Amino acid sequence: MTGQHRIVVLGAGYAGLAAARRFASTAQDARITVVDGRAGYVERVRLHQQAAGQRIPAWDLRELLVAKGIQFVQAWVTELDADARRVILDGAPALEYDTLVYALGSKADPAGVPGVAEHAFSVATPEDAIQLFEQAETARMIVVGGGATGIELAAEVAESEPDSRVLLLSSEEPGAWMSQRAQAHVRRVLERLGVEIRSDATVIEVSAEGVRLAGGELIESMATVWTTGFGVSDLARRSGIAVAADGRMLTDPTLRSVSHPDVYAAGDSAVVAGPGDRELRMACATALPTGKYVADAVVARMRGRDPRKLRFRYVFQCLSLGRRDGLIQFLHADDTPGRTVLTGRTAAWFKEQIVRGAGRAARP
Ligand SMILES: Cc1cc2nc3c(=O)[nH]c(=O)nc-3n(C[C@H](O)[C@H](O)[C@H](O)COP(=O)(O)OP(=O)(O)OC[C@H]3O[C@@H](n4cnc5c(N)ncnc54)[C@H](O)[C@@H]3O)c2cc1C
Repeated sequence: MTGQHRIVVLGAGYAGLAAARRFASTAQDARITVVDGRAGYVERVRLHQQAAGQRIPAWDLRELLVAKGIQFVQAWVTELDADARRVILDGAPALEYDTLVYALGSKADPAGVPGVAEHAFSVATPEDAIQLFEQAETARMIVVGGGATGIELAAEVAESEPDSRVLLLSSEEPGAWMSQRAQAHVRRVLERLGVEIRSDATVIEVSAEGVRLAGGELIESMATVWTTGFGVSDLARRSGIAVAADGRMLTDPTLRSVSHPDVYAAGDSAVVAGPGDRELRMACATALPTGKYVADAVVARMRGRDPRKLRFRYVFQCLSLGRRDGLIQFLHADDTPGRTVLTGRTAAWFKEQIVRGAGRAARP
C-alpha cells in the first residue's frame, strides 16, 4: 500500500465513536472516515427514557468528528465488497478502505414470533423509541421481556405516567440472571410503581388485540413492546465475512475478522470472547472498551507490532428503575453475580453518572 492508510469505521454508536476517538489521537497519519446513516448521536442507553417522553441529549456527528480531523459520511451502508475492500452506500459514493472497523450495533429482534414485526413496538433505535412515545397507548401496555431493557422500560413508563397500566410479561423472574437480592429489589420497585408482573408467561403470538401465551390465553393490550433481545444486520453475512448464526461477526482475540484480516469488529455486531468462556454481552459496557481496543489493535499492526490480546471483565451491571431508584449488581470476574448490590436513590445516581460517563467516553 502507498499513501495514507485509509481507515473506515462503520457505525457511530458507542463502539464506532470510541474507536474513532482513539484513532484521532493515535493514528494522525491515517485518513479516518466514520459512516453512519443518522446525522445525530443519541445515547442509546437512554432510549427507554425517550420512549417515556423525556428529552434526551443528542449531538451533531459531523460537528463532533470534523473537529477532531475525522471525516464523516452520513449514509446507510447497503453492501460490503470485502474482497475489493469497498463499502457501498445509499446515496453517496462508495468508500475504499485499507482497514475496516465494523460497528453497526444492533436493532429490534422479532425473535421469529408471529406478529411481532407487524404489531409490536420496540425501544431498540431512536426511531423506535419516538414511535413508541408518539403512538403507543399506555392505558394498557404490555412489555414483553424480563431482561434489562424490559425492566427499565416498564419502570420508566410507570413512573412517568402514573395513570398507565403496565404489564410486564416474562418466562422467568425479571432480572433472573442477577442475585436473589437484586431480583427482589427489581420486583419491589416495579410493584411499587404499579407494574403488574407475570413471570410464567411465554408469548407465542402478537396481534392487534394483544398477546397470545403458550397455553392459549389471550391478554388484551393497547400497545405491546417487544424487548426480548437485539438482532444484527445481515450485511456481514451477505458480504461473505464469517459470522455466527445470528449474523454477528466472528473475531479473533484481537477483534479481527476470522475470515478477512483487513476487517475488525466491535460492540453489538461482533462476537467477542469474554471471561469464563462466555461471550461478551451486547452492552454499552462492552461497546466502549471493544471500540477503544480495536483502534489500538489496528494501530499496532499499522506500526508493525503485534497487538496485545483484549483483556476485559465486567465489574458491575446497572439498571435504572425510573429516575428515583436503580440497581447496581456487582459481578465476579467470571461475570456471575456477587452478593453486593446497591439500590435506591444511590443506585439511581450511580447509574446516571455511568450513563453520562459513557456519553463523554464516546464523544470525540
Ligand atoms: C433502551 C436501552 C437501554 C440500554 N441500557 C443499557 C445499559 O444500561 N447498559 C449497557 O451496557 N447497555 C445498555 N443498552 C445496550 C447498548 O445501548 C448497546 O449495547 C450499545 O449501544 C451497542 O453499541 P454499538 O456501538 O455496538 O451499537 P449502536 O449503539 O447500536 O450503534 C450502531 C450505529 O451504527 C449505525 N448503523 C447501523 N446500521 C447502519 C448501516 N447499515 N449504515 C450506516 N449506519 C448504520 C446506527 O445508526 C448507530 O449509530 C441499552 C439499549 C437500549 C435499547
